[in-house]
Amino acid sequence: MSSVNSSSTSRDRLAKQRGIPTKCDCGEAVSRFTSKTIKNLGRLFHCCPLGSQKDKTHLFKWTDKSVIEEIEDFQDLFDVLLVDISEFQKSVRAGEAMMKRPESRIEEIEDAIAHCEEKTSECIRELKSIKAFFVCCLMMVFMYHTYA
Ligand SMILES: [Zn+2]
Repeated sequence: MSSVNSSSTSRDRLAKQRGIPTKCDCGEAVSRFTSKTIKNLGRLFHCCPLGSQKDKTHLFKWTDKSVIEEIEDFQDLFDVLLVDISEFQKSVRAGEAMMKRPESRIEEIEDAIAHCEEKTSECIRELKSIKAFFVCCLMMVFMYHTYA
């Protein structure tokens, strides 16, 4: 009785491999078969070629259960991917914001340079008028000293 329990435990452990099994614990590659029993006629299953009705230490697993596990695992993976995509989108948006910052700084600097150029030409104009005024004053002083 205890040997039956241990073999069924062993088979349970083998059946607990998630998804569609590829290898038995004995190292043999598992194959897919179609059940020919009346109870499960046409039902697909994976099993180790070394297994038998009596030797239950080798892998046996119904394919429909394996496929359901594959779908469940895929859903979990899909959820993880959705989280990854939303985090990636956040990173892209942050990157785009960082890329825009230097552009706005360049625009600010260009505006400042344009303002400086404007002020410089204004100063040059004032200097020219001061120079003209000074020359005019100099001429008046010269004429005053010459003709007075
Ligand atoms: Zn096996």
